[in-house]
Amino acid sequence: MNTGEQNLPRVAYFCMEYGLDEKLPIYSGGLGVLAGDYLKAARDQKYPLTGIGILWRQDYTEQYIDEEGNPYDVYPQYDFDYLKDTGVTVNVEIWGSSVPCRVWLVDHYHNAPLYLLDADVPGSRHTWITSRLYGGGKEDRIAQEIILGIGGIKALRALNVEADIYHFNEGHALFAGLELIREGLEKGLSFEQAWEDARRRVVFTTHTPVEAGNEKHPHGLLQELGAYNGLSYDQMYRIGGDPFNMTRAALRLSCMANAVSRLHGRTSRRLWSGTENIPSITSITNGIHVPTWQDPSIAEAYHHNRDLWEPHKQAKKELIEIIRQKTGEVMDPHALIVGFARRATAYKRSDLIFGDTSIIYPMLQEGRLQLVFSGKAHPDDEAGKSIIKDLVKMDREYKNSVVFLENYDIKIARYMVQGCDVWLNNPRRPLEASGTSGMKAAVNGVLNLSVVDGWVAEGPRHGISGWLLENEPENDSLDEDERDLQALYRVLLNEVIPVYYKNPRRWQEMMRASIDMSRWEFSSERMIRDYYRYIYRQAPVILTS
Ligand SMILES: *Cc1c(COP(=O)(O)O)cnc(C)c1O
Repeated sequence: MNTGEQNLPRVAYFCMEYGLDEKLPIYSGGLGVLAGDYLKAARDQKYPLTGIGILWRQDYTEQYIDEEGNPYDVYPQYDFDYLKDTGVTVNVEIWGSSVPCRVWLVDHYHNAPLYLLDADVPGSRHTWITSRLYGGGKEDRIAQEIILGIGGIKALRALNVEADIYHFNEGHALFAGLELIREGLEKGLSFEQAWEDARRRVVFTTHTPVEAGNEKHPHGLLQELGAYNGLSYDQMYRIGGDPFNMTRAALRLSCMANAVSRLHGRTSRRLWSGTENIPSITSITNGIHVPTWQDPSIAEAYHHNRDLWEPHKQAKKELIEIIRQKTGEVMDPHALIVGFARRATAYKRSDLIFGDTSIIYPMLQEGRLQLVFSGKAHPDDEAGKSIIKDLVKMDREYKNSVVFLENYDIKIARYMVQGCDVWLNNPRRPLEASGTSGMKAAVNGVLNLSVVDGWVAEGPRHGISGWLLENEPENDSLDEDERDLQALYRVLLNEVIPVYYKNPRRWQEMMRASIDMSRWEFSSERMIRDYYRYIYRQAPVILTS
């Protein structure tokens, strides 16, 4: 709680996507849902924080499965009648034209105020810029980032929203820093002074654990599109290098930076260790908005120290019912359900569990194990789509034991993290910066079965509040996939399944331990407290250079 804390800095929080609710589809996945949960926590705890984002008219994608089992994308044009029109329009220079952006206010999901920029202005030739989240090529992305960053600062000024700290949640918002520099230059500061003045007010959260995941842009394109915002090549080079690296630039434009779990902190420090003129990178582990994700009946039973199985059985029944409505498949409420919902991309290894057919098929046939999958692939990611195709094939082969739910969104996520028995997570390491779906499962007493990456290294304890897939020791002849597959089967067959079928009492104890472990430590309430304590209130700091 922030009660009693005086003079809290006012924070403007920038993010490309927000997942507040399935009815406002302007998110693609974890980053957006995290930001949405954060705004809800800010509102609950009365922190002076304001969100800035973009109103994506066509969502990220709606993704369905055709007769042949292939995913395909549709892009409905959304009407968001229920947003409040602030009456403010800001103009942003892109490709030499002035692009008008309307500013909408979202505040009805019990969230801190969220202002969304929208280029879909009647008569404008530039409506395409804010149509699809992460859609189009490099030009589109840069144009979108100019709107978020430069347009975002202009919107704050036009709305008279004051901010002491500018928080860039991931590098997409970086051009906001260039707009702060431009403001400084306009006041008569030198470039050096304006840079320093901007940087003292900016903090940055990185979400990417691998070098290749950091966005880079060619300078020519940045200049052409207007992202230079009045600066020269030399000045831009000093900030972001050549090609212009958005993460490096965000680091050089901020006075404090953090990663999103302790392990990710270590990975990020290693990744950026050779880079000069950046702040040290700390870590603040992500959290989830518990009231959004925890089943109220589970919460009630937990707080009154009552039987957790009854409310869990109810949530499981509701999941089975929604599966029946969506797919016609009927799962067995008495048999174990393992859930897995992720963006379909190679490193998350959605299909790892099918690795050895001689082990997994009999279990599916006997109906002792049931699997529920969901997840979208990026529309241009053919490899991701082929993973989905494989999952759909399994679904069709093992009707009622394997289910794939199309068009993964917040609503499906809610049913799954409340109604499955076990939550499976097996990405290659160390590629998961944090992961948050496992936290949502944990607060519902849905037990994590996970490799040790991201938040999991700080969370579930093996055999107590979940199960961990430690590396198989002393087995260098096997590759990582093979080792993890063996660990997965060993834990599943020797621990998870026996406890589920033979020791319901222990299962319930583990459910309770899972909720104990997660409900504060992995809540967005704890997270925002930490951001105020260790980041916002510490800025500006002396930079290590
Ligand atoms: C929580 C959530 C995510 C993020 O899950 P990860 O564990 O980080 O993969 C993605 N999409 C939706 C809809 C979510 O609710």
